[in-house]
Amino acid sequence: MAAESELSYDIAVVGAGAAGLYAALTAAGAGASVALVSATPLAQTASYWAQGGIAAALAVDDSPERHLTDTQSAGRGAVRRSAAAVLCEEAPARVADLERLGVNFDADRRGVLALGLEGGHSLRRVVHAGGSATGRRVLRQLSALAVDEPRIEVLEGARAASVRMRDERCEGATLEDGRSLRARATILATGGAAALWSRTTNPPGSLGVGMALAHAAGAELADLEFLQFHPTAVTGVPGREGFLVTEAIRGEGATLHGPPPPGKQVGERFVDELAPRDEVARAIAALLADSGSTSVGLDMRAIEPARFPNVVRALRDAGLDPARELIPVSPAAHYMMGGIVTDLHGRATVPGLYAIGETACTGLHGANRLASNSLSECFVFGARAALAGLDEAEPAVAAACAPSEPPAVPLARPDRATQEALWHHAGIVRTRQGLQSLLDDPHPLARLVAACALQREESRGAHQRSDFSDTNPELNGRHAVVGADDRPRLAEWH
Ligand SMILES: Cc1cc2nc3c(=O)[nH]c(=O)nc-3n(C[C@H](O)[C@H](O)[C@H](O)COP(=O)(O)OP(=O)(O)OC[C@H]3O[C@@H](n4cnc5c(N)ncnc54)[C@H](O)[C@@H]3O)c2cc1C
Repeated sequence: MAAESELSYDIAVVGAGAAGLYAALTAAGAGASVALVSATPLAQTASYWAQGGIAAALAVDDSPERHLTDTQSAGRGAVRRSAAAVLCEEAPARVADLERLGVNFDADRRGVLALGLEGGHSLRRVVHAGGSATGRRVLRQLSALAVDEPRIEVLEGARAASVRMRDERCEGATLEDGRSLRARATILATGGAAALWSRTTNPPGSLGVGMALAHAAGAELADLEFLQFHPTAVTGVPGREGFLVTEAIRGEGATLHGPPPPGKQVGERFVDELAPRDEVARAIAALLADSGSTSVGLDMRAIEPARFPNVVRALRDAGLDPARELIPVSPAAHYMMGGIVTDLHGRATVPGLYAIGETACTGLHGANRLASNSLSECFVFGARAALAGLDEAEPAVAAACAPSEPPAVPLARPDRATQEALWHHAGIVRTRQGLQSLLDDPHPLARLVAACALQREESRGAHQRSDFSDTNPELNGRHAVVGADDRPRLAEWH
């Protein structure tokens, strides 16, 4: 007999950002009963904050092959080709499905989708909604559908505390309030980990909780050293610290300028603004270090404000006038390329456990995510995992022996010292000494980030070491994989 507080479903989805919502809707659409667990309100997901849009090869002169080439080139020799190929092939169909579900993307009068340009893309490829309100528009629509879908039970304000295990198979999740979910497949869609760093563009809940839960259950993690820094986050403006100014604005012609020389109002340009993110972030960090300045200026005075209404509004609310002045920006921790190791259907290395969205690591982003590939990933792999999960066997009916729970992991916020330590020692430029000091950090994920970063004795994409400043071609296609022993090994993925 199942325990009284045990709830049974076909699929349990933990996390209600873009990945979790879409997976839940896909599973329900295929006839499954679904629990959708969400710790935070909608507006506190990274998905809701997404501005630029969703990358998909939709232009007449584009193709999945071209999208793949750009993804591989941004990923600096570490992209898992098979995963990136799936993304690029299937993203257009997922955009069409979102339209079917009622998402209105920006389009011209004939209904042809408007495509934005972002760094690292060789042509316009980014679908958006409400100018730069893409995440908000998509999430509102998907949440409304999930709430109305009778096969989905939304457990709001509920937090997963552990993954339920029996005989080395995952069979659900336990919530902090003591309720227990039993499911054929448990899909972690808990978002990224960039809020572990003190300066971040992410909502405060992006703390890698899903990674910690999966690791405690014995699942492998990988690529934790690859944390992307977004080049243009507002700095020095109280109340708007870390606010992201989308790359799509640079795609429309906004430029970056160093500190102005005496007597001038605007400094020199110093970088190709549409180079991949790692390159632009590094150029800004180097310029700040050389000049002693704390910000560079983003000149968006020539940009039509109506094109990016929510960004312009937020800047004006903070007392900045983007039509008249340069916006002070500098890099901030933005996107975790690493996460829970999965195959091409979202399966983690523990049977019955799946991971999708930013908490997952298919290897598709390599060492540096191509802009706007992450929302595409949420939808492409969210759908794949939901459908694969339906093929899982029913978990054995609870008998005399209770499922063995992995030990509780600390889900509390990291303290400020950990966040500062990650920013300083696992920031844009790293040293062996700094990374070694992180090995003693009280937060388990900080220690794992350091272990992966120490293992990678080279510079590649978002991972730059001053003591190993070159890329080692022998490490192309190699990923730092961490299992239960917390010791990363370099594995080759195709
Ligand atoms: C400011 C900003 C702008 C961005 N712009 C873009 C863009 O234009 N294009 C693009 O492709 N990407 C963009 N990104 C990245 C992209 O938004 C994220 O990678 C993506 O939205 C992650 O989606 P997700 O569903 O994996 O996680 P999230 O959207 O972060 O959702 C995570 C969910 O998990 C829940 N959760 C966490 N822990 C628990 C727990 N223990 N129990 C229960 N629930 C839990 C949270 O409450 C939340 O519902 C942007 C990111 C930011 C921060």
